[in-house]
Amino acid sequence: MITDSFSFKKYLFLLFSLIFILPNAQKKFTIVLDAGHGGSDIGTNRRYDDLGTVREKDITLAITLKLGRMLEKNKDYKVIYTRKIDEFPSLTERTTLANRSKADLFLSIHVNASPTTSTATQGTETFIQGPNQNKKNLEVAKAENDVIYLDERDRETFASYDPKSPESLIALKIQQSKYLESSLLIGSMVEDNFATKDKRNSRGIKQADLHVLRMNAMPSVLIETGFVNNYDEAKYLSSDIGQTDIAESIYDAITKYRKAMERNGSVANSPREPEKPAEVALKNDFRILLMSSPVKYNSGDPALKGLNYVLPIKDNDLYKYYYSVTNMASVRDSNLKTAKDAGFKNATSISFIPNQKLGIGYYTLEVAVSDQKLSSNSSLLNTLKDVNRNKEKGKFYYTYGKFTSLEEAVKTQKELDEKGINNTVIQKVSR
Ligand SMILES: [Zn+2]
Repeated sequence: MITDSFSFKKYLFLLFSLIFILPNAQKKFTIVLDAGHGGSDIGTNRRYDDLGTVREKDITLAITLKLGRMLEKNKDYKVIYTRKIDEFPSLTERTTLANRSKADLFLSIHVNASPTTSTATQGTETFIQGPNQNKKNLEVAKAENDVIYLDERDRETFASYDPKSPESLIALKIQQSKYLESSLLIGSMVEDNFATKDKRNSRGIKQADLHVLRMNAMPSVLIETGFVNNYDEAKYLSSDIGQTDIAESIYDAITKYRKAMERNGSVANSPREPEKPAEVALKNDFRILLMSSPVKYNSGDPALKGLNYVLPIKDNDLYKYYYSVTNMASVRDSNLKTAKDAGFKNATSISFIPNQKLGIGYYTLEVAVSDQKLSSNSSLLNTLKDVNRNKEKGKFYYTYGKFTSLEEAVKTQKELDEKGINNTVIQKVSR
């Protein structure tokens, strides 16, 4: 019958769709491979007579490229590299790349060194994001986070936490990561393979506050593949056999992890979502307004709860404290979250039109506030010409310069900083 054969054709078509179309429509499992350090940032290193200088940035790249080639042979995987050559991507670049690609997993590969002169320490360890649990983890966090200071762009845009600030540690402790469980799973699979397959000394899974993990919106681990200050491990890490072993162990762990996630239904087995276009920069700049206060706090003051790159702008006798600046929506949202995590519950993001000229009024720099009139041979008045003095309610206010845009004021503020005139405040004068 015609209707029957029609149905049968339809059925066949559906069957074909299921067999041939659906698997192709499946989203690939996307992995970001981050070879730690690179370029001017060598990472940890040791010199041995027979091995030469064993450098972290070379080992991490070699392992990453081997692992990437293994994954690329399997069409289920899509691999994104933060670097494939000897260069230094900023931490912002590494994490925004990972977030924009909507990756399923982020692996950062590193080499360890013990802070003491001891050469006995050896083994692997894998870090997941979390508060520092002990002093040793804090040391690893410090060494791996130190690279942040190499890149100027990171200083301003990165949600910077001062890990030494007790406030920031408390904030991190209450922060719940929804990716903690899956990060723990992939981390334990990696460490299991190192121990059973490669007969390495696994030091286990640890939690630390690592910037490169913190900013990622996906399960993320940082793998320390061995200690460069231990001769045997340095030799193993710089050998082709050692690098292949490590890459294979990580590859195998990824395969097991993906299967486990599929069983859980956590990995998209559903048809591919329409590709989202890459994030474009917004027209405006965004700063996070932390608080307004009649009190002036200098950078590092506990009132700022460990947040760095806070820009106070004085407006109508109130100091408004703005944190970070960015024109990327994703970074703005993450900076806002950082501010709230740090304890600024009413923090809100404020948009600024770049290079906007004030129609009425101007910006100036408040360079000093004093109960006493500054002596004419004070270092401030000697360094700066044309400083204005204003007396209000028994206090002397010293201001410098007239600027029509905030950017001009920030530029001069930085110049004054370099001359040793610190903690100046940009003031908006609306008359
Ligand atoms: Zn490292």
